[in-house]
This record gives sequence, C-alpha cells and structure tokens, in this order.
Amino acid sequence: MSPLINPNNAHNFSGGPGALPQSVLEQVQQAILCEPDTGLSILGISHRSDWFAGVLAEVQQNIRQLLGIDTNYQVLMLQGGATQQFSQIPMSFLNGQATPPDYLCTGYWSRKVLGEAERSARLRVVWSGASSDYRRLPEDAELAFAPDAPYLHYVSNETVEGLQFHRLIGHPDVPRFCDMSSDFLSRPIDATQFSFIYAHAQKNLGPAGVTLVLLREELLERMPDQGLPGWLDYRQQVRAQSNYNTPPVFAIYVVLLVTRWLLHEIGGLAAMHAINQRKAARLYDLLDASDGFYQGRAAPPDRSLMNVVFTLPTPELTADFLAAAQRAGFYGLNGHRAIGGIRASLYNGLGLPAVEALIDFMQSYQQQATTRRWG
Ligand SMILES: *Cc1c(COP(=O)(O)O)cnc(C)c1O
Repeated sequence: MSPLINPNNAHNFSGGPGALPQSVLEQVQQAILCEPDTGLSILGISHRSDWFAGVLAEVQQNIRQLLGIDTNYQVLMLQGGATQQFSQIPMSFLNGQATPPDYLCTGYWSRKVLGEAERSARLRVVWSGASSDYRRLPEDAELAFAPDAPYLHYVSNETVEGLQFHRLIGHPDVPRFCDMSSDFLSRPIDATQFSFIYAHAQKNLGPAGVTLVLLREELLERMPDQGLPGWLDYRQQVRAQSNYNTPPVFAIYVVLLVTRWLLHEIGGLAAMHAINQRKAARLYDLLDASDGFYQGRAAPPDRSLMNVVFTLPTPELTADFLAAAQRAGFYGLNGHRAIGGIRASLYNGLGLPAVEALIDFMQSYQQQATTRRWG
C-alpha cells in the first residue's frame, strides 16, 4: 500500500464526512495525478468536456441501476448540501397550495429541516419525538397523515441520535419527500414510493460538495413557476443535466467511483445491506451483552444500522473511553456536539474488520474499567 494513504482510514468511525472504501481512495489518488481515460489530473478537467458529460451520465445510470428505477426519475447533482434542500423544497413546491405539507420531527436533522422550511411556509408537524428526547421513532398508530398535504417530508436516518426507519411510512396519495443523507445506498429501498429523495455525498457516497437529488418527472410538471434564481430551479437543473454552472467535478467523480464499487465490488444494495446489518448487529450485540456498561441510546426497534450511539455509566468514563479509543487508533467516535456521548458511524465505506477491531477494544476496555473499580 502506498504510504500516501492513511492507514487509519481503516478505523474511521466519523459521523461525516465518513470513511470511503480503500479501493476508491486508491483510484482517487491516481486520478489526482492522472485520470486514466484523459491523461489529465481530475482537478483540472473541464466540466464542459465530453469526458465529464460521460461521468454525469454514468452516475445517473448507476444510481438508477442500483435502485431499479427508470428514466422517469431525474438524478441531479447539486451544490449547497442537504441544508440547501431544506429550503429549496418548500420554496419550489408550495406556491398556491391551500394545505400545508406534513413534516415529521424525529431528531436533530428534522429540527434543522423544520427551522429552514418554516421560514418560507406554513407546515404541519405530524409527530414530534421531543417528549421522548428523540430516543424512538413513531409507531404507525401515532401517525395521522393529511390525505391532501402537498407532500410529506421526513428524515430516513437521524444521524445524531442513531434512529432509522425500517419501514415505509406516509399516505398513499401524498408524495413522499425524504432526506436520506446518512443512509442513501446503504440498503435497498422501493424508490418508486418516493417522489423526491435527497442525500448529500459526504456520509455514504463520496466527499462533501455534491448533493444527489432524485425526483419524479411528474413533480416538475406540477411545479408552479416561482421566479426562483436559475440555479435554485429544479427544472433548469434538469434541463442543464446538473451542468448549469460549474459543478463540483472532483466530488462527482468520486461518487462515480463509489457507485462502481457498489455495483461491481460489493454486488448491489442487497449485498451492501447484508454487510451493514452484520456490522451493526455485532456492535449492538456487544452493547446488549455488556450488563449496562455500554448503554445504547435508541429504542431497539428503531436502532440505526449507520450510527450506533451509546454512553458509558458516567460522563467521566465516557470521556476516558473516548481518549483511550483515540490513543488506540480509532477516529471519530465522539458523539455529535448536540448530545455528546459516543457515536460509531458504520457507513458503507467502513469494513467489518474495523468493527471487529472496535469490539475487541470495547471488550478489553470494559474489563479493565471494571477491574480498576472492583479489583
Ligand atoms: C449530515 C446531515 C445533514 C447536513 O447536510 P449538509 O450537507 O451539511 O447541509 C442533513 N441531513 C442529514 C440526515 C444529515 O445526516
């Protein structure tokens, strides 16, 4: 392995930007000097080149293939992060609507979504997890969706609290809009049940700088003309095939490599899901078998496969654990600054051996801490 590649990538549990597959990093390293098809550095290739048009087309095609969707879904690659979508969605789809859209408030990222959306629209919050401290997701019986809402918006995986929906929710007559930033392409989904999916790259798909948006054609037909600036207008972006102004060429190229890795090395989303299930199960089993030494935050039925959030019995032990883990070469285990604690993020790019190494570390840490206390 080249010394330019940081071996700690193998133990990178960062919540985002997250670890990318080693084989992708090696191709990126090569492409920075000389992208094999063009003989040029990826950092200096024109966004108007035929080569880059091919990259954009192949990303779209690979995403459609991975999700089993047709060309009635447009795949856009936009800038501004997931956060831009929080406001671009209500700005684009609510003009002249008599009824408010439905939103779920299931955690930190939902609250951010609501904060932005409320600036431009009146909304209805169908359910909030505030009273349960965002430790669980709603059950079906708690969800009374409005049948005439212009859309339902929710977050499929709450990255900070470690909560993930393991079922489809919503009203059959209401278009589903979903922020999948932290679990997109980590498992198969029935994408045809969604009108609008968005996910920035930097958790499962690539580096920061590009956000994928999948939207159904019909949605564009029904979209009122809002007089938005061109770059905030989904129709203009579709017409320009994500090349309205200079797109983040490098980030999009890395997303291409990740989609190829998913298709050809992993073997598709069902195979990726099986790996992700195995990784998360190993870690949750350890929490559950630790006699309360490691306490998981999320209600077990809603546990996220992507973000495993837990604490130790005291804040002092939690802090000591984090320091010891860092010394042992584990990176990015500190919980989100909003809630503290520990968060192990197990995105696609993080392999099972890294999780096994963490489990060994956690077992011996528990043993030592218990001996220190009682021995
Ligand atoms: C990290 C995260 C975001 C933030 O995205 P930006 O690209 O930084 O704007 C939004 N939604 C979810 C679910 C996230 O996990």
